[in-house]
Amino acid sequence: MAGFTKILWVKSIRRNGGRDWAYFEEGTEDKFDLNFSRKHDTSMENVKPGEIILLFQRVNKVKGVKAKTYLTHLVTPTKEASRPVDVPHRFDRVIKVQVIARMKKDVPIYSKADILNFTNSGFGGAINVGNLNKRKDLSEIQLLIWNMFLEKSTVNPLAYVQMPEVFTEDFFATEGGDKEIGPHITKERNTAVVRRAKEEALIKGNGRILCECCDFDFFDFYGEHGFNFIECHHNDPIAIGGERPTSTADLAMVCSNCHRMLHRKISGTDIYFNVDTLRDHIILEKSKK
Ligand SMILES: [Zn+2]
Ligand SMILES: [Zn+2]
Repeated sequence: MAGFTKILWVKSIRRNGGRDWAYFEEGTEDKFDLNFSRKHDTSMENVKPGEIILLFQRVNKVKGVKAKTYLTHLVTPTKEASRPVDVPHRFDRVIKVQVIARMKKDVPIYSKADILNFTNSGFGGAINVGNLNKRKDLSEIQLLIWNMFLEKSTVNPLAYVQMPEVFTEDFFATEGGDKEIGPHITKERNTAVVRRAKEEALIKGNGRILCECCDFDFFDFYGEHGFNFIECHHNDPIAIGGERPTSTADLAMVCSNCHRMLHRKISGTDIYFNVDTLRDHIILEKSKK
């Protein structure tokens, strides 16, 4: 499941005409029934499983005072049947959704009306998220929304994103040869520390992970296929003896090319580059051209 590129829809929600918070009650943390009005039946059907809806609401509507706009949830439809509404009312069309991210409700996170404009999205149907700013690329809007949630959500949206395999290493030195990327490579994929290191890097890079040596960006180059992909390198050469990294500081995020270069002896020597010296080396080589 890809991450922010699936944020395709935006829908306004409200409770008691905007006086109360919607979908923050106990039991709505993981899943809830999202109501649509009968009028918006078709927009409900447009949203496919795997796609993400951004929910927003205008809360604390008091007479004479304009309510603020809050982005409150990222949700995705499940295949589960929702509970039928007991008493038919205007909003009795329902889908069961899974919560991917949910803001702390008392944090007014949204005030950038010039970047995302919600004024024409307030009618309860699911509309295309691209409508929030027609002058921006869809991916730019999606990333903006995703980063807001990464920063302020009480539910970690990255837990929903299935981490692709993280190619890391359980390297061992071969007799006199280069540190070989051996058959142990699968051992350390997706260990908790590798996962955490990636999450930290994603947050630090505003949703992107760049190679720490050469700044290569897999998402930029490969599009969605490259989203969330990076290799992990053990900073500490002691780890080559088989010791597992215990802290995220032991790991560096590098592209596949740089990773190989880190595991190749510097010509005519018995030593290897580390992340910093390889980075310097790349800059030096570039300056020669
Ligand atoms: Zn690189
Ligand atoms: Zn490595």
